[in-house]
Amino acid sequence: MRSILHVDMNNFYASVECLYRPEIRNFPVAVAGDPLNRHGIILAKNMIAKKLGVTTGEAIWEAKLKAPGLVLVPPDYKKYLRFSRMAREIYYEYSDQVEAFGLDENWIDLTNSLQYLHSDPVTIADTIRQRVKEELGVTVSVGVSFNKIFAKLGSDLKKPDATTVIPYEHFREIVWPLPVGDLLYVGSSTARKLELIAVNTIGDLARMDVSILKRKLGKWGEVLWLFANGQDTSPVRRISESEQIKSIGNGTTCPRDLQTEQDVRLVFTVLAESVAARLRDCCMKCQGVQIYLRDNDLQSLSRQKKMAYPCCTSEPLLQTAMELFRQHYRWQKPLRGISLSAIYLVTANKHMQLSLFDDTAEQLLLQEQIEKTIDGLRCRFGHDAVLRASALLDPKLTGFNPKEDHTIHPYNYFR
Ligand SMILES: [Mg+2]
Repeated sequence: MRSILHVDMNNFYASVECLYRPEIRNFPVAVAGDPLNRHGIILAKNMIAKKLGVTTGEAIWEAKLKAPGLVLVPPDYKKYLRFSRMAREIYYEYSDQVEAFGLDENWIDLTNSLQYLHSDPVTIADTIRQRVKEELGVTVSVGVSFNKIFAKLGSDLKKPDATTVIPYEHFREIVWPLPVGDLLYVGSSTARKLELIAVNTIGDLARMDVSILKRKLGKWGEVLWLFANGQDTSPVRRISESEQIKSIGNGTTCPRDLQTEQDVRLVFTVLAESVAARLRDCCMKCQGVQIYLRDNDLQSLSRQKKMAYPCCTSEPLLQTAMELFRQHYRWQKPLRGISLSAIYLVTANKHMQLSLFDDTAEQLLLQEQIEKTIDGLRCRFGHDAVLRASALLDPKLTGFNPKEDHTIHPYNYFR
């Protein structure tokens, strides 16, 4: 049996901001993508803002209604990365197997190091919790279990500043009554699909006939069923914090195979819009694009390319993706799945070199204004309030919203 911890720093971005600016710590505080834009979104909030009902992902104007006097701070990823690194240095004292998940979460596999530590996983979890609080000034929640999925679930159950144990002997009593959406990788769209077949709790999922799940959700249905039954065997990989913000991507498995370049362009358009909106949400720009193609024989191909200017709009992402596609795909087979990632990320406020002889940079800024306006409209009236005309060509192929549906799939299951 493995011993795995999942350590989650509580209200991470906002906690770090409050450390740097103690004068704001007794106010509701939120880190927001673009504080001057009413429709910018909340990326993180402190405990006080949370108690007033402020939630991650909502628009700034909504949050301000709930928490008058809300202090807004723009994100500073360099600061967060520094704290993330310092926390991981503490974790490394207990194991060399540490996997980052975002900037504020890490799995630690203690299985092999326990014999040298002369301690037990729960005591180590409490020690780590105490040390991060004292040495960094940030509280953490820790889940202790025999696999990654339940360790992560445990760290969500009690917070802030708590340890939750989900031992093998009792996982059914603890985990099965919880709503199915609490399980990592069950996003809102998957939860809706499961509800339709009367799967509301993790226990319902565990007791479900796995062949029905496979029919409804494909291979993913079986993976989730294994998770619910405590059979997640995925290893804790050595993944560092900086690898976690190296890219922002979206992908999809298409409802039908893609046969033509036009098909591919339609789907890349939806993906590029989503990736660009996500870049803007977190105040980032990218200087490269990576595409990933999977044909209906499950052969895959990945290619990347640098761009001349950092950008956060859909047009250059789409163009670069199509260039890569035309250059590298020979249509031996129709395509089943494609994805698009923004790579080489930089913070958006980095100044851009304007050229006297070339108006690309100016055009990019103009495009950015247009797309930010669309973000605002979609935020107020829903994703479908503004659609490209191309979306009407084949609504079945393009009728998805990767930004909302987006679930991060664990590397190991789809390799
Ligand atoms: Mg956290």
